[in-house]
Amino acid sequence: MHILENVPLSSYSAMRLGGNARYLSEINDRFEIAPIINWAAQNIVPVIMVGDGTNIVWRDEGFPGLVLINKIKRFETFNVDDDNMYLTVGGGENWDSVVERAVSMGYSGLEELSLIPGTAGATPVQNVGAYGREVKDIMTTLEAYDIMQGKLVTMPASDCAFGYRTSRFKTIDRGHFLITSVTFHLVRSNPKPPFYDSLRLYFADKSITTFTPQVVRDAVIAIRSAKLPDPKVVANNGSFFFNPFISSEKLSQLLEEFPTLSYSVTSDDRIKVSAAWLVEQAGFKGAHDAETGMATWAKQPLILVNEKAQKTADLLKFKQKIVDAVKDKFGITLQQEPELLP
Ligand SMILES: Cc1cc2nc3c(=O)[nH]c(=O)nc-3n(C[C@H](O)[C@H](O)[C@H](O)COP(=O)(O)OP(=O)(O)OC[C@H]3O[C@@H](n4cnc5c(N)ncnc54)[C@H](O)[C@@H]3O)c2cc1C
Repeated sequence: MHILENVPLSSYSAMRLGGNARYLSEINDRFEIAPIINWAAQNIVPVIMVGDGTNIVWRDEGFPGLVLINKIKRFETFNVDDDNMYLTVGGGENWDSVVERAVSMGYSGLEELSLIPGTAGATPVQNVGAYGREVKDIMTTLEAYDIMQGKLVTMPASDCAFGYRTSRFKTIDRGHFLITSVTFHLVRSNPKPPFYDSLRLYFADKSITTFTPQVVRDAVIAIRSAKLPDPKVVANNGSFFFNPFISSEKLSQLLEEFPTLSYSVTSDDRIKVSAAWLVEQAGFKGAHDAETGMATWAKQPLILVNEKAQKTADLLKFKQKIVDAVKDKFGITLQQEPELLP
């Protein structure tokens, strides 16, 4: 058990902001968790587990407890036959490396989730999704350390309360489970149309008509790389706001005033408005805010970029400017996607 003290949390968030952790420790094996949780209980300090920090913002006050960094590695296949493969990956595995390996083995299921930054263990937390695929579609079970029971438990996907960018781990059971591994069911068959709109357009543009997991992965990487900044190079948390859902009455009202409103209807008949469109129309595309040192990414206004900000307070001030402008113009309140911790 190796516990560091007073560690700057800016190194553990892709936005590179925040105060210090009172204590911090890397977890390399699931069996290291029980002793360190006992240590935290004895010393009466709160505990939180994170991965690569790509979806969190630390407060300037820092965290007065123990931050556990999940570094648990594992890549194990089982029950493999001509058509199926079950894959268990450690919570600390780099997510895109997992996708790359599964795709290179010829299995389908993860390819739409290519190039999403972060760790495998974090993917169930917000039911990570992209290009029409969500973790809930392919996850079978996960293993987690249950802090209340003090032991490792196995949980089926059906018990995770998955929803759009959410799960029980973000809501009722926040901080209750430390995810040590995740198991996926993948298939040996080629992905089939219809594809998500941007993929469909990409394939049409490139005259691609044969689809394999690798073809879809390559397309997703090309589309994402063209519009999203690499968090290793540019300090950002990806999309900073969720796409809001509105009622049909609100849609009619907005369409009268804004006929080009960008929205879609989900498979469960909910109306989802493009948060990027709202932010852009509110005047924040490629904005550089001298007061806070924050900016929006020119190619994707939903991404807030830390250019020169020194404090999380600067980020939150810039965020509020956007939220207020969107609210004034459209009467919609945007909700923040990256979690503000603690
Ligand atoms: C450029 C960019 C693009 C992105 N694109 C997408 C996208 O297309 N779709 C999408 O859904 N997300 C996207 N994200 C968000 C982010 O990549 C995902 O949410 C990712 O899963 C976060 O992984 P992480 O390891 O960095 O988690 P962290 O940011 O470290 O943690 C996120 C949350 O999960 C909890 N957590 C992390 N690991 C564990 C664990 N092992 N056990 C229990 N709790 C844990 C943390 O406490 C925290 O609440 C993007 C982010 C960036 C920067």
